[in-house]
Amino acid sequence: MDSSIYNAVVINKIMINPDLMIVQIKTDEPQIEFEVGQHTLLGLYGFENRSSNSAIESFPADVDKLIKRPYSIASAKDETRHFEFYIAQIKSGQLTPRLFNLNIGDRVYVGTKISGMFRLDETPDGTDIIMVATGTGIAPYISFLRSSIIQRPESKMIVIQGAAHRWDLGYYSELTFLAESYANFFYVPTLADPDDHWNGYQLPIEELLKNDILQNEFNITPDPERTRFFVSGKPEMVGHVSEWLHDFGYSRHNPDKSGEMYVEEF
Ligand SMILES: Cc1cc2nc3c(=O)[nH]c(=O)nc-3n(C[C@H](O)[C@H](O)[C@H](O)COP(=O)(O)OP(=O)(O)OC[C@H]3O[C@@H](n4cnc5c(N)ncnc54)[C@H](O)[C@@H]3O)c2cc1C
Repeated sequence: MDSSIYNAVVINKIMINPDLMIVQIKTDEPQIEFEVGQHTLLGLYGFENRSSNSAIESFPADVDKLIKRPYSIASAKDETRHFEFYIAQIKSGQLTPRLFNLNIGDRVYVGTKISGMFRLDETPDGTDIIMVATGTGIAPYISFLRSSIIQRPESKMIVIQGAAHRWDLGYYSELTFLAESYANFFYVPTLADPDDHWNGYQLPIEELLKNDILQNEFNITPDPERTRFFVSGKPEMVGHVSEWLHDFGYSRHNPDKSGEMYVEEF
């Protein structure tokens, strides 16, 4: 079995829970420069083993085929050899159970192209930035913050992260630390199914927004001229938040037409 196309090695793997991991990968050669919020491909062959807590594949992979999927880069943009990804295991999927079976020192394919429209650098200086995420949708914001929080002291930057349980909140410690360290950064985690010790928000993100959390807590009115929104994660949440923003005059940013709302669904 030839895996010579693999061009990178796993240098760290942090299990957030059995189906959620942060994985750090070092490429053999520096990759091209990229902008925060972009994504690249990860790949493994179908002959690679699947993790022990995965399920039977819905659509069995061809053993000789390189299975490739896009993943948002969570690391800072000045790192062109060390990449971090935040990945959820789809138990019946093709690639993620194989990625979850990787250990430190194992080799993997990283795409040589880095692309994507989810670009913080395209937002005007001085605009406030609201970053909304469920699940692994938080990954691009980690790259935003690691790269740019110091460069945008005049912008309020707010992360609203929705999850089911406390142990699904990847990057909680880093985001809490940033909120304590930077006067212009605010972190709003909200849980659907919290334990008894949770004293934070418990409403879905779209409900928090409809209940005017931005006005009440941060004195921000959704205004396409002054506030840009990034919305990333599960299609249902993305759809609800997009509709809500539409009523304030927001339009979706896309390659043909610039907008004030950046959307990524996965
Ligand atoms: C721009 C972008 C960025 C992304 N960033 C991330 C990220 O940072 N982290 C992350 O975890 N994920 C991310 N994703 C999602 C990622 O690319 C994969 O889709 C995901 O990891 C699942 O891959 P998989 O091979 O394990 O599952 P797949 O094998 O692709 O299966 C996914 C689901 O679809 C079903 N399915 C598979 N094939 C078919 C078919 N032919 N017909 C119908 N149903 C089918 C499966 O049963 C399964 O439920 C991103 C996606 C995009 C587009």
